[in-house]
Amino acid sequence: MVEFSDFHVNVSNQQVSDILNAHGYDSYGNYCSVRDYFSEMSGGLLDYTNEVVGPIRLPKPRQYYATNPMFKTVLDEVAATGIDLSNFDSRDENIIDAISFIYAGRTLYQDWLWPHNHILNWGHGGYRANFYQVSSLGDDVSTMSIGTFAHETGHMLCRFPDLYDYGSRDGDFEKSAGMGRFCLMSSGNHLDAGKTPAPICAYLRDLAGWCRRKKINRRGQYHAEHGKYNEVHFFETDRLNEYFLIENRSQLGLDTHLPSSGLAVYHCDTLGSNEWQGGTAEKHYQCGLLQADGHLDLEHNANVGDSGDLFSERTGSFLARNTAPSSLLWDGSDSGLTLRNCSAPGHLMTFET
Ligand SMILES: [Zn+2]
Repeated sequence: MVEFSDFHVNVSNQQVSDILNAHGYDSYGNYCSVRDYFSEMSGGLLDYTNEVVGPIRLPKPRQYYATNPMFKTVLDEVAATGIDLSNFDSRDENIIDAISFIYAGRTLYQDWLWPHNHILNWGHGGYRANFYQVSSLGDDVSTMSIGTFAHETGHMLCRFPDLYDYGSRDGDFEKSAGMGRFCLMSSGNHLDAGKTPAPICAYLRDLAGWCRRKKINRRGQYHAEHGKYNEVHFFETDRLNEYFLIENRSQLGLDTHLPSSGLAVYHCDTLGSNEWQGGTAEKHYQCGLLQADGHLDLEHNANVGDSGDLFSERTGSFLARNTAPSSLLWDGSDSGLTLRNCSAPGHLMTFET
């Protein structure tokens, strides 16, 4: 924890430790602790805890540290407390696995205080820093939230990419909404003021190795259970990098504050980029939500999600080669995927292929 000459930390070390580490945490409107969030997303495979140190008081006003990075100074102070850095070297490589800086006050979206994940060149007593993340603590205990801390942790621990569109990467200079509010790694960290962030979407959970793939290539009826984060419905194509994923995103649990309720269908291409909103054969999203209303609002940056984006209560074919949106592959060829007869949103949704 870091504080400044003009912004002081006014929550206790224990309160911060609780929101990060406690089991069954639900204080101040938060859905759960950061630890329970990642445990739920990973089907219990990732147990991530933080040891809280500080607050470390920096001598200058907060604004100064937007342009003058504080990180090494803070870690010098932390090392001076005599903390045993070997506790954070899980692979015995003399590398500190992960370091999170949380600073006093609401988020300052500016330079080095803009919440981010990066690499730090710092060492002490034979141990070297590596990945770190920074985010804010909020004004007081009532505004503490898990959303942005969890988003930056997604980068830091899991090496997840952002699934929104900066408008400045991969040779593309137009902004779009990417996955909008539908994934923690897009802008879903902001749902419910960060207290009930969106889940990590099935595309990233699957790449992390947290999901069992339930193949839906055979014609049949399938059941999608809400909140079963260790499983995903998977439609295979004849390309290794391109496929469709389906999951139940009814407005329950961590999805309570989503703009839409129902079945989410993602068109995935691990060789794509969420900078590429154009949807051409060469340049398209790596994970795009097939918005049920066919408006492409996320690609057009018209919104970050709306009530028409997920599928529910459909009779007959609702996603096929000749529907809008369609189940065509990015090069325009037929993927073979047809979805029919989708039930209403709820804990258990059914659909047919
Ligand atoms: Zn990010």
